Amino acid sequence: MSWTPEKIELLTSLWNQGWTTARIGEELGVGKNAVVGKAHRLGLPKRPSPIQRRTEDSSETKKAPAAKVLSKGISIYDLGPGMCRWPFGDPGDDDFHFCGKKNIQGKPYCDEHCAAAYLNGKSPREDNPRNHNHGGPNNKR
Ligand SMILES: [Zn+2]
Repeated sequence: MSWTPEKIELLTSLWNQGWTTARIGEELGVGKNAVVGKAHRLGLPKRPSPIQRRTEDSSETKKAPAAKVLSKGISIYDLGPGMCRWPFGDPGDDDFHFCGKKNIQGKPYCDEHCAAAYLNGKSPREDNPRNHNHGGPNNKR
C-alpha cells in the first residue's frame, strides 16, 4: 500500500473532520495502525476524543458561575427581604458585598451575624476587684 497524494489529502481531511482512525482506515483500505503512523509522520494535530471534550466543557460552564457567586457574595441589588444585611469589605470596594443568608425573623442579620452584632455592642463585664467591699474603716473599731 503506497500513500498517493490523493490518499494523504483524504486522510488529512477525514482526520480534521474528527473521524476515528479505524474509520479512516476503512475508507482508505489500510489498517488503523497505518493511519495512525501516517498521521504522525504528517504531523497532524492530536485530536481530543469528542467524549472527553464534552465533559470538560460542561464541567467548566457549571463551575465558573458558581465560583463567581461565592467570591462576590450578594450585591445591594440582590439583597432582598429576609436576607442578612451584614456587610463585608468597604462600601467603596469592588468586592463589597452582603452576607445574604436567611435572616432571623425581625432582625436584619442571620443568626451568625446577630451573634456577632450582639458581641460588639455589649458592655464590658463589671468584674473590677476594687469594687469589693472591704469595710476598711469598720476594722478600726
Ligand atoms: Zn449573615
